Amino acid sequence: MDVRTFWLAGHPATGDTELTVTNPHDGREVGRYSVPTEAQVEEAVAAAHQVTRQAAALPVHVRAEALAHVARRLAERADEIARLISAENGKPIFWARGEVGRAVATFRFAAEETRRWSGDVQRLDTEPAAAGRLAYVSRVPHGPVLAITPFNFPLNLVAHKVAPAIAVGAPVVVKPAPATPLSALVLGEILAETDLPAGMFSVLPVENERAAGLVQDPRLPIVSFTGSAPVGYAISDQVPRKHVTLELGGNAAAVVLADADLDWAAARVALFSNYQAGQSCIAVQRVIVEQSVYDAFVERLLPAVDALVTGDPADEKTQVGPLVSVAAAERVEQWIKEAVAGGGRLLAGGTREGATVAPTVLSDVPADAALSCEEVFGPVMVLQRAASIDEAYAMVNDSKYGLQAGVFTRSLDAAFRANRELEVGGVIIGDVPSYRADQMPYGGVKDSGVGREGVQSAMRDYTYEKVMVLTGL
Ligand code: NAD
Repeated sequence: MDVRTFWLAGHPATGDTELTVTNPHDGREVGRYSVPTEAQVEEAVAAAHQVTRQAAALPVHVRAEALAHVARRLAERADEIARLISAENGKPIFWARGEVGRAVATFRFAAEETRRWSGDVQRLDTEPAAAGRLAYVSRVPHGPVLAITPFNFPLNLVAHKVAPAIAVGAPVVVKPAPATPLSALVLGEILAETDLPAGMFSVLPVENERAAGLVQDPRLPIVSFTGSAPVGYAISDQVPRKHVTLELGGNAAAVVLADADLDWAAARVALFSNYQAGQSCIAVQRVIVEQSVYDAFVERLLPAVDALVTGDPADEKTQVGPLVSVAAAERVEQWIKEAVAGGGRLLAGGTREGATVAPTVLSDVPADAALSCEEVFGPVMVLQRAASIDEAYAMVNDSKYGLQAGVFTRSLDAAFRANRELEVGGVIIGDVPSYRADQMPYGGVKDSGVGREGVQSAMRDYTYEKVMVLTGL
């Protein structure tokens, strides 16, 4: 099997070691990739630093065309890339195709947005003392972006960092997740087809220790991290003076109020607790149901969970595949056992085979069990009863995380109350918390992170406002 090169300052390169990626479904080898040496990492960072000014001055049409090219090529190679994502991650092919489509949209949107990125003019003569003066306000990149990404969306979460960086004219150094680097390396291949200057991008599949060194490097003033809360906060603590964006974990809640369409709510909750085997930061983990409709909701939910097709991620019909590793599945199984030992009632699933955990539903789980308060990152949901809207919303907020929440209701009043009261970065009315459109601002509060992604939001996060005052007008 060929060894995939990494991307050093826009060029393919190989280091002196190779690592293997395996399919979590069957342990089969998916591919091998070359790991950069310390000297090569240094070369990539030096190149990014060196090209900073040239990158910021790149004509908009060059940035826009590069981004549009990536969107086109991802779309052309969609089937091949979806198969790769599915194989390296264990994600069902259906969801992998969806991920490629989203990455296409992310690049396409960035190509459009860079054309709109032209700064602002402010008259200053609103005050007598500033008569005759005008301010031109532009946004300037802080410098090269270090993009550290997780395993669960190995293409689109890389796209969410690379596309806005190119859009604002910032070089970017990508450090993909060790379990799933191959799709990011294909993205590097496509980026290398563009007219972007050498040094503008590198994709370095390095070990975590070397990534920690990159975090400390002053030539990479922006760190855009998506991953778990402990790693994210350890990073931001190490570099308090850098611009750090943290997109971290959650234990997202779906609230089902008494006026909800219960058939729709049950179908959506069943699917989005289990999509990608629950390995999404906004997968439904806690389901908070108003007491008066609890039984009717559960009556609809359990058959919907039972109908989910679990199996080989390469099969077009599969909805739930394996977790990223057997170890991850064992941890989820352990948490289920602990919850049951603490008094939790298992209503569905609870079993594990290799890396695959059956879609699992529990009720009466103690509030201090890991399944209630930590991020499970597996196909498991915990049902909770709420006596009222007040109690339901308080239960959503009873979490150290705050990424997104979903509220199934037909009431405008309940919707606006949710928007006012829920301590999250996004409130999804009429659907699960797992909904994300790639252009919308996305991110959390509390332990779910700092800063926002979504192309426009990341473009703002990567830049600062710079004012030029013109005198004598
Ligand atoms: P992780 O924290 O283990 O790893 C994330 C990335 O950080 C990987 O590339 C990893 O190699 C790297 N890393 C690990 N230690 C490092 C160090 N000391 N210095 C620098 N880099 C280091 O997360 P994961 O298991 O890959 O992903 C799952 C987590 O990501 C979950 O918590 C999930 O909720 C979160 N996530 C959040 C979002 C979001 O947008 N909020 C999206 C997807 C996933």
